[in-house]
Amino acid sequence: MQFTVAIDGPAAAGKGTISKRVAAEFGFAHLDTGLLYRAVGAKVLAGADPVEAAETLDPADLDNDSLRTHDVAQEASKVAVIPQVRAALVAFQHSFATRDGGAVLDGRDIGTVICPDAHVKLFVTASAECRAMRRHAELAGRGNDISYDQVLADVVARDKRDSERAEAPMVAADDAVLIDTSDMSIEQAVAAAVTAVRAGM
Ligand code: C5P
Repeated sequence: MQFTVAIDGPAAAGKGTISKRVAAEFGFAHLDTGLLYRAVGAKVLAGADPVEAAETLDPADLDNDSLRTHDVAQEASKVAVIPQVRAALVAFQHSFATRDGGAVLDGRDIGTVICPDAHVKLFVTASAECRAMRRHAELAGRGNDISYDQVLADVVARDKRDSERAEAPMVAADDAVLIDTSDMSIEQAVAAAVTAVRAGM
């Protein structure tokens, strides 16, 4: 059985949590496609060429806690504007999306570019302030003493880079279900997503 759920949206809107919970609810596999760009960004920070890093990416490179840092996130959104980097990551995402047993992919361009025929598409968003507050708390919890204002500025800069790039910009697909999590608890957001997926089955 093939069933693809595409979940897009900006950083810290809740897509990661929602994607994991939707995958668990329906027994689907989950791919956080941001990790692909983060893994390339991390290699570039270590001195690699971005296109070569993308072309030689190993799935084992994705399983690394160091990809979760703020610097890697910023670098990821810089390498993500390079068309050859994006092209090198398409095949892996396609084969994940069409695997047997169902798949949830979350990212920025899943419903528009990677899986335009996904069975269900969600666009998960929230205000920039709300996302910056969540991301700031998460970073603080990991011992990173970056200020809220800096996190907000970085969230806004990353949104701008992701939504204004020429290649596969972040945008809701016309047929995506919009979920604004600004005033929702995690449970409410997950419930809205599960309802939307069930409706598409
Ligand atoms: O989702 P996450 O914050 O981990 O993504 C890091 C960066 O990777 C994003 O800011 C974006 O530039 C890029 N990305 C992308 N397309 C995707 C997933 C992530 O361009 N499908």
